Amino acid sequence: MLLRSIEVVQAPPPPHFVGDGFRVHNFIPGRYSMEKMSPFIMLDYNSRFYFPPATAPRGVDVHPHRGFETVTIAYKGKVAHHDSAGNSGVIGEGDVQWMTAASGILHKEYHEKQFSQEGGDFQMVQLWVNLPAKYKMIPPRYQAITHDQIHAYYLPNDQGRVEVIAGLHKGVKGVASTFTEVHLFNAILKGGAEETFTFSPQFTTSILVIEGSIEVNHSTPVPPDHFVLFKVDGDSFHICAKEDAIVLILSGEPINEPIAAHGPFVMNTRSEIMQAFDDFHAGKFGMLD
Ligand code: MN
Repeated sequence: MLLRSIEVVQAPPPPHFVGDGFRVHNFIPGRYSMEKMSPFIMLDYNSRFYFPPATAPRGVDVHPHRGFETVTIAYKGKVAHHDSAGNSGVIGEGDVQWMTAASGILHKEYHEKQFSQEGGDFQMVQLWVNLPAKYKMIPPRYQAITHDQIHAYYLPNDQGRVEVIAGLHKGVKGVASTFTEVHLFNAILKGGAEETFTFSPQFTTSILVIEGSIEVNHSTPVPPDHFVLFKVDGDSFHICAKEDAIVLILSGEPINEPIAAHGPFVMNTRSEIMQAFDDFHAGKFGMLD
């Protein structure tokens, strides 16, 4: 076991709104290239934010995606969604939606109706996972993963758990099906709890502190809402919760292919982006009111 050192601890950048329902800090690509962060090409973090009651649900109206997967992880509040493949549902606290846009989909993402009417704290992550070229044009797929379906590794002495959304931690497998090797966990730790995470050294590896504060590798304090990117110089890192904490952990095998990205389309070449716009305008992404 060789400790993986920290490349950067990043404070949340100034937030911006996506539609009128998501007030997000962009950590990926952030100051980096998508190639460096591969397979993760975007991470928007809606840190905990109170939305007052509203009569019309806030959110993002109908828009397309092609060439990758969107993963929505809900911590506070509820999001309702509909897509052109006929899927719809509500992502509630602890739930994860793993949508493979692949060849193309239209969807809309809104605050759930009752949540909108009552208002409340909203906290959410949206992560985009790239697809290798050979999977970019497969039919869309959709995994609605409710909290009760997510298996957890339990730390000794009731010190917390590691919920494995995708990948593997200490023998516990994630329920999400992925196209490349992706590890995505929520570590829910009591104050004083410690855990070590081990991934292939070349994997892109980072963490986001959702709640509480932690210490990384026995030396570096990381406050809430901060992001840590690790170097590719070791296989393991250690976290210790200084108080009750929730930490999102991401590690994935880089996809070493060219990236051409424009807005909601992430392909390999410029001409594939032009094709995506043509197909979108020709109605080939389906219909959604
Ligand atoms: Mn979307």
